[in-house]
Amino acid sequence: MQTPRLEIRNIVRRFDGRRVVDDVSLTIQPGDVTCLLGPSGCGKSTTLRMIAGVDMQDEGEIYVDGKLICDTVFRVPPERRQIGLMFQDFALFPHLSVGDNVAFGLRDGKAEKRRRAGELLERVGLSRFIDDFPHQLSGGEQQRVALARALAPRPRIMLMDEPFSGLDNRLRDGIRDETLALLKEEGTSVLLVTHEPEEAMRMADEIALMRGGQIVQRGAPYNIYNRPVDKAAVAFFSDVN
Ligand code: ADP
Ligand code: MG
Repeated sequence: MQTPRLEIRNIVRRFDGRRVVDDVSLTIQPGDVTCLLGPSGCGKSTTLRMIAGVDMQDEGEIYVDGKLICDTVFRVPPERRQIGLMFQDFALFPHLSVGDNVAFGLRDGKAEKRRRAGELLERVGLSRFIDDFPHQLSGGEQQRVALARALAPRPRIMLMDEPFSGLDNRLRDGIRDETLALLKEEGTSVLLVTHEPEEAMRMADEIALMRGGQIVQRGAPYNIYNRPVDKAAVAFFSDVN
């Protein structure tokens, strides 16, 4: 069997004695898009923060490509995990050009930085803005720049926390599809957090359904949708058409 790109084993995170993440295990295969799907407050963002390394679990281990990056005593710092991040509040640097924003995380020479930034901007259809500043772009365009920036250093895994929820409805489907196409082209493994079943159905190779700090069901979107594990899962999916 292939070594998973990401494996989390029996992760527990307590806040004030409450198990907000309650024995979560999850594997992501290279190149796969896995959606962590569940209602607000179920522990999705907390799980992502531990993988990113900005929070630390009380129990359990995290592995990337079979190598331990974090248990309860050992911890690789966030900047050395080769993990890309994208959140709803994607915050480009306002004082840097679009090209410099995309190149920000790169350690190459100037020419190579500009080449890679140009390549990614081309892929998201925004190369003409390379020397402009973020405020000159629309919200949807800024979002695509943020995606290009996150992908530029070729992260092993991309963590995305409700990245589309701040976007206008009219834009959202198009940007979801473009984002997915680019992630697939780059071969990036993704853990995408969302509370919207429709988004998970549209984007995921695998869905992990989360509730009350636990993963209650795991599988391909089609199977999860057609064979929900219980009545609560049926209700949760009922707004997907
Ligand atoms: P989700 O992303 O699924 O909406 P979160 O992971 O943000 O959920 O939060 C899960 C639960 O943990 C919530 O009840 C939230 O209030 C609580 N929580 C998150 N972070 C903290 C914290 N730093 N201190 C105390 N409680 C927290
Ligand atoms: Mg959240």
